Amino acid sequence: MPFGEKKMKLPSGKIIPTPNVIRCIAPAAIVMQYDQYCEENDIEKLSCFLLVTCHSTLYRIMQVCPASVQKSMEGLDYFVVEGGRAYEDLLWVVNQLHLFKEEMDQMIKDLSECKQYLKHDFKIHMEEKNDIKDHCMTFYLNDKDLHFKNECCNHQHLSGYPKCLQLSDLLEEIIKRVQILESENIEDMYDEILFKTSNAIDNTVEWKKQIVRSKNQLRTKNHIMSALNGSKAIVMLDWAI
Ligand SMILES: [Zn+2]
Ligand SMILES: [Zn+2]
Repeated sequence: MPFGEKKMKLPSGKIIPTPNVIRCIAPAAIVMQYDQYCEENDIEKLSCFLLVTCHSTLYRIMQVCPASVQKSMEGLDYFVVEGGRAYEDLLWVVNQLHLFKEEMDQMIKDLSECKQYLKHDFKIHMEEKNDIKDHCMTFYLNDKDLHFKNECCNHQHLSGYPKCLQLSDLLEEIIKRVQILESENIEDMYDEILFKTSNAIDNTVEWKKQIVRSKNQLRTKNHIMSALNGSKAIVMLDWAI
């Protein structure tokens, strides 16, 4: 993803401004994408000799053109960008649902409130341990496998807080409405609506998870910093994978 600008100087002395990037995927995946891109667009691949694609050259290029290291513990904005796009897509989907005007206005209003909730309140409501499942970081951060087993054992989860359940209710409602469209004769359109809906929901869920991870990182950082004394230092490394 682009992140500011860098200036590249060619041997001829010409200066080309290039976007500064944060790589969001591993080098091996970038090499695969490069191969695929060349094939799809009929571009001759970079080769060393005997016309064999030279992957080691590609890895070298990535090494000498390093991606930026973002110096923030807030996590990459990538999820926020995708989350924002998910909101736009859901807005488009709602407009295709053949709803009555009041119903549609209400859904658009709910959608906008949910986006605001994710941007602000969700982060604030979350605590290390909380009686409401949607606000419990321990619950979210438990991935159920042995490495990060993190169970909620000393508190119970009550049903929830209506305002904070609005997002999951709304997403469920949108899925239900989209499924109704299947019986209408709009085949191609239906596929597009279905695709955008499931994609947008996945991205919203990922955004939510990212908010939990960021808050947990911050909590950990504060915890470590509060234990620092004159002979200790904290080094923070954040990287894109
Ligand atoms: Zn819990
Ligand atoms: Zn909440």
